[in-house]
Amino acid sequence: MADIIQLLPDHVANQIAAGEVVQRPASVVKELLENAIDARATIIKLVVKDGGRTLIQVIDNGTGMSHTDARFCFERHATSKITSADDLFQINTKGFRGEALASIAAIAHVELNTREGQAELGTAIKIEGGTVASQEFTAVPEGTSISVKHLFFNIPARRNFLKSQQVELRHITDEFHRVALAHPDIEFHFFHNGSELFHLPPASLKKRIVGIFGGKTKEKLVPVEEETEVVKLHGFICKPEYAKKSRGEQYFFVNNRYIKSPYLHHAVVSAFEGLLRADTHPGYFLYLEVDPSSIDVNIHPTKTEIKFDDEHTIYAILRSAIKHSLGQFNIAPVLDFDQDRNLDTPYAYRDKSAIQPRIQVDTGYNPFKEDSAQTFRHSSRERRPAAEWEGLYVGLESKMSEETSFSSVHLESEANAPLSFDPLYEDTETQLTSFQLRRKYVVTTIKSGMLIIHQNRAHQRILYEKFLKMATFKEAVSQQLLFPLVLSFSRSEMSIISDIKEQLEMFGFVFEEMGEEQLKIAGIPALVAENEVGIVMDELIAEAQAHGDQLDTSPADLLSRTLSKALAVKTGTPLNEASRQSLVNDLFACREPKLCPFQKPAYITMAESEIDKNFN
Ligand code: ADP
Ligand code: MG
Repeated sequence: MADIIQLLPDHVANQIAAGEVVQRPASVVKELLENAIDARATIIKLVVKDGGRTLIQVIDNGTGMSHTDARFCFERHATSKITSADDLFQINTKGFRGEALASIAAIAHVELNTREGQAELGTAIKIEGGTVASQEFTAVPEGTSISVKHLFFNIPARRNFLKSQQVELRHITDEFHRVALAHPDIEFHFFHNGSELFHLPPASLKKRIVGIFGGKTKEKLVPVEEETEVVKLHGFICKPEYAKKSRGEQYFFVNNRYIKSPYLHHAVVSAFEGLLRADTHPGYFLYLEVDPSSIDVNIHPTKTEIKFDDEHTIYAILRSAIKHSLGQFNIAPVLDFDQDRNLDTPYAYRDKSAIQPRIQVDTGYNPFKEDSAQTFRHSSRERRPAAEWEGLYVGLESKMSEETSFSSVHLESEANAPLSFDPLYEDTETQLTSFQLRRKYVVTTIKSGMLIIHQNRAHQRILYEKFLKMATFKEAVSQQLLFPLVLSFSRSEMSIISDIKEQLEMFGFVFEEMGEEQLKIAGIPALVAENEVGIVMDELIAEAQAHGDQLDTSPADLLSRTLSKALAVKTGTPLNEASRQSLVNDLFACREPKLCPFQKPAYITMAESEIDKNFN
């Protein structure tokens, strides 16, 4: 057989490699910003047009490049940062593979202007799809400017894969935040389509965080500091009461490089144990400094994961330092485990929204003592030997809990919901007899046996169909607020809100004013209570952030799901008889009662025969 192996031409090889480094405009932004930082720039400007499709430009006042280097930097494996594989273990710069510029140049039109401090003239190079179109001497300011135009011009598949301008801009903004947070001492400007989104002067870390996430952030931050032989730690955590539904503001930096670490994240969350509302995530900005030779930076350029030699120690140090901060700044309340857990659900907040949570401080709290929260819990359990047999009486809810009536939760029963909708019921003449099991299920009898409804999922289904109908038939009912609600958000949250503004209006939201960090709401959907708006907006932002892609295709569905999840009666909420009844009625008036909007069962049935079998 003839030889069939061929070497790929360089430009093809470069294009393929480029796909690995450059996944979307945000990857270009990251590489260019990092190069500017490695060049010791003190002022960096990022200019973007159309979410990065038409232009990404980074201008820095760093060291610049010589005429030869300017040409050479576009070659694969051209780097000034390492000379041997051993250097990999002592890396202090961002880039080191010498791949970024070669990759970018292979798939875009790139213009480079650069001048070293001592040189009189700088260099201008144009390079298109990896081929140099022109190179000349030119008078330019000291430093480097790189413009990347028409990204993916020669890879239509990639170009078509790009999401909307808003989605790409969001990815770019995320990247920008990470770099700007890692280097508060550097001045950054960020322009998009001609308007300046961020101007961040050199500042302390705290000021930088506030500069990015908005003025309100200041009061949320609690400093964290710890110095040991293994790791130096500094930064901020957000007070637990500001924990959000979205995971947005969670940042780890190791040696000034942004990283993701589920393991260290766990350490942080565990330090917050018992202080967070259900389904909320604490914010943090944590900076670790370790000996570069004690970490293994994954050499894959787009990965942000690293491995520590001494992971367990770092975990323990992180956790105890955060606990210490929470204790020291009087944030950790006395953990009262005897308190009814149900009161912790966001649902219970609706009636108490105006009251600030009272925080009792455990002055004896010592974070370095063996997990004090844990011991506390054990002892409180021991005082209640009755707990064991209480379990036998599940379903017998106390009268008192019935008073927190579910009807205030406006699960309206549709008057015309047919009670006789279904031969399912044993006796449609009389009232349903039902009871609540563990404040989680509503149990009732049906002809064939027993019906067990998951209260939270069932209510999600009911609300989901209502919202979807409203959005689809444009029949949203809006309630006018007497006084407009003013809510504060960070700029990037505001940009998400403005992306989904129109869709939200379909549900009955009326926005009076959208400032840079403030939102004035004049009307809300009739199904939402005024004091729930904050929680709902939080959830909507989190969802839009996580599923930005779906937003392009079916916003009504996504938002209906999100709203239903935010508003549905939670597990743990006691339901009185009327509420149980309307829950059952409304559920079976749904088009798809079997599943919640997230495709999990909303109810199950158990046939009498099945029950009989168990008694044999
Ligand atoms: P790496 O950053 O991995 O070395 P790049 O392809 O990103 O690889 O850059 C190649 C080289 O070009 C760098 O090592 C650096 O010497 C030079 N370079 C890139 N950007 C700049 C800049 N903004 N200022 C000065 N030199 C730069
Ligand atoms: Mg680089």
